[in-house]
Amino acid sequence: MPHSTDVFVIGGGPAGLAAAIAARQQGLRVVVADGAKPPIDKACGEALMPDAITALEGLGVVVPVAEGRPVRGVRFLGSGLSAEADFPSGARGLSIRRTTLHGIMTERAAELGVDLLWQSVVTGISNQEVQLGERKIRTRWIVGADGVNSRVRRWANLDAHSRTDLRYAFRRHYHVPSWTDRMEIYWGEHTQGYVTAVSNEQVCVAVASHDPEFRLEESLCTFPELNTRLRGAETASVERGAPSANRKLKRVWRKNVALIGDASGTVDAITGEGLGLAFSQAAVLANCLRYGSLAGYQSAHRRLAQRPLLMARLMLMLDGHPRFQQRTLQILGRRPEVFRRLLALHVGTLSPFHLALDGLTLGWGLLTA
Ligand SMILES: Cc1cc2nc3c(=O)[nH]c(=O)nc-3n(C[C@H](O)[C@H](O)[C@H](O)COP(=O)(O)OP(=O)(O)OC[C@H]3O[C@@H](n4cnc5c(N)ncnc54)[C@H](O)[C@@H]3O)c2cc1C
Repeated sequence: MPHSTDVFVIGGGPAGLAAAIAARQQGLRVVVADGAKPPIDKACGEALMPDAITALEGLGVVVPVAEGRPVRGVRFLGSGLSAEADFPSGARGLSIRRTTLHGIMTERAAELGVDLLWQSVVTGISNQEVQLGERKIRTRWIVGADGVNSRVRRWANLDAHSRTDLRYAFRRHYHVPSWTDRMEIYWGEHTQGYVTAVSNEQVCVAVASHDPEFRLEESLCTFPELNTRLRGAETASVERGAPSANRKLKRVWRKNVALIGDASGTVDAITGEGLGLAFSQAAVLANCLRYGSLAGYQSAHRRLAQRPLLMARLMLMLDGHPRFQQRTLQILGRRPEVFRRLLALHVGTLSPFHLALDGLTLGWGLLTA
């Protein structure tokens, strides 16, 4: 174990590994510590949007074809209706088991010479030191990538945030022949279900709701189409839960400590953008570290989060409003070009100006449906 480093990353999930890889690409010495043992699993919809793949490629992380499944777009289903749209031409998404992605990112970090400390819980930080129980490592920079309940955020006094719209999410895998090459979103009255096929024989199902009492298996009956698909299917993983929220921090860095990934704020799981956001933040953060100043990180971080937060808010307007959901699905079904443009905006290939135009089309459709 090294006695000192340039960058100490606390948390070796996707955000921490991305930060470590990006910092190594900038020539900095990097240590990552994570309390868990790889490959690390977590509740996730396991879909990478096209912009996430571009950001991953920038980190030199290449997902072998056999390890993921291309995702061509998104399908909404609910109230017996469905509407679908493909990503803009040339763009593709990917579905991949979380553990597989973790393995590939860990390999890339190791190949670049990142010092990886697994089963190593960080117990405290001070100005230029990170503490792992009795051991201390000196560092110039500290990166908090320790997830949604970040202790680094608390230690660095960065907890202040805007109102959080908290939801509860769960995921599980099922052995069933995959039936879709789109990310499917099932709209229930107060719950959404997300499905991605992670292999030819396995699908990942995630659900989210404001109700703290709800659980995945019980909620499936609120999605009749999905329930029929999964009837009799064997489960392939344990149920895992995690909070899902739109949370914006007032500050994402202080002195020599910077936050990244879910530690630095979150977007609701419905966007499928958490991972892509972390990968983009990593590149920006590493650039700041290279030039020895975190001053530009705050504004760049805010800019990156703007679009996913906007999309999350737009999509969650449908939550709890069944008639509104039904009309929106009808319109998107009838006007696929509007859905396509909304999706293009979602993955960053269209400007918010077009959202205004499509918002008018949608609004007019809702009034006249
Ligand atoms: C139900 C659900 C579905 C989602 N679906 C998608 C999707 O389809 N696509 C997408 O892009 N995003 C999705 N997301 C969001 C995505 O999962 C998160 O944005 C992403 O996991 C954040 O990664 P992270 O590395 O910041 O945090 P985490 O993955 O939580 O990693 C944090 C790591 O820090 C470690 N750690 C914590 N404290 C310490 C400590 N003191 N010392 C050492 N290590 C520590 C933990 O062990 C953990 O490994 C979804 C989220 C949910 C809840």
